[in-house]
Amino acid sequence: MKPAPFEYLRADTLDDACKFLATHGAEAKLIAGGQSLVPMLAMRLLRPAWLIDIGEIAALARVVIDPDAITIGACARQHVLAAHDGLAAALPVLGQALAWVGHEQTRNRGTLGGSLVHADPSAELPLVAVMLDARLALQSTARGTRVLSAREFFTGPMSTLMEPDECLVEVRFERWSAPCVGSAFDEVAIRHGDFALASACAQVAIDAAGRCERVALALGGVAGAPLDCSVQAASLVGSVPDDGAVDALAQAVAGGLEPPGDLHASAEYRRSLAQTLCARVLRAACARARGALTEAR
Ligand SMILES: Cc1cc2nc3c(=O)[nH]c(=O)nc-3n(C[C@H](O)[C@H](O)[C@H](O)COP(=O)(O)OP(=O)(O)OC[C@H]3O[C@@H](n4cnc5c(N)ncnc54)[C@H](O)[C@@H]3O)c2cc1C
Repeated sequence: MKPAPFEYLRADTLDDACKFLATHGAEAKLIAGGQSLVPMLAMRLLRPAWLIDIGEIAALARVVIDPDAITIGACARQHVLAAHDGLAAALPVLGQALAWVGHEQTRNRGTLGGSLVHADPSAELPLVAVMLDARLALQSTARGTRVLSAREFFTGPMSTLMEPDECLVEVRFERWSAPCVGSAFDEVAIRHGDFALASACAQVAIDAAGRCERVALALGGVAGAPLDCSVQAASLVGSVPDDGAVDALAQAVAGGLEPPGDLHASAEYRRSLAQTLCARVLRAACARARGALTEAR
């Protein structure tokens, strides 16, 4: 199918985009990489009168790596992030997740911000943002800049707290201060590049004795929005996370889930996947943290 007719405008600056949204927000859509929006237009699930292209605004594509945080512009392309050496060292879970996002062709155009705002409950980048409780900076002409935590931003399938006159400007990820940090991302999809039936990601920090100092865990595809399980995962803090503790945690987390069932996977199968993936990412994250500890000695 072809999209319904629309007018196209390329914004040169963030201010231009926000000004246009202030007047036409209700009947306009921002377009960044178009990898989610264009299919929605072609299927006529959306019929905006205006498309405002923000994909070439250089100020929205910056990557800044500071000692305590990493800030990534909303329009940074996924392939740029996946190939970024500094990010591979400072925020490895992003690259681990990006390896699962669509295909090379979609990552060439797709942006971090587009994926977050699209808010598919099985998408990888929203899961990472929730796991690390990233901060999302939103800008509008009417209200200036407001910052939301990723854990409050996603409210349901394709649904967020963003207002129609707002543009997502940048995403800030905290850098954990512990020297020995490991992370992991894993998912099960019918074919590689498809949306996940279930997914999980974790980050673990350990001290010099190998005890868990801090842990974050999130699951995707098992609820209307990425599910933060960090409170349950905190049961690992203070002890050396062995297989028994990890398996018990994964079982407890999965037991509390009420995943959706559909054509692709029953609710029971998704729960079982979530348990397996949860244990897998925690083990892998712990192993990487231990590897970092060995290297540091
Ligand atoms: C074949 C195929 C396979 C795919 N597989 C996956 C997959 O496995 N995992 C996955 O997560 N995604 C997948 N996708 C979807 C897609 O790759 C991502 O969701 C995409 O990267 C979205 O980014 P974009 O820049 O293309 O967003 P766009 O399509 O340009 O925009 C998406 C939405 O976000 C809004 N938007 C974009 N940027 C901003 C901003 N800065 N501020 C406010 N609103 C904004 C748009 O208005 C629109 O509503 C796939 C897509 C295709 C075509």
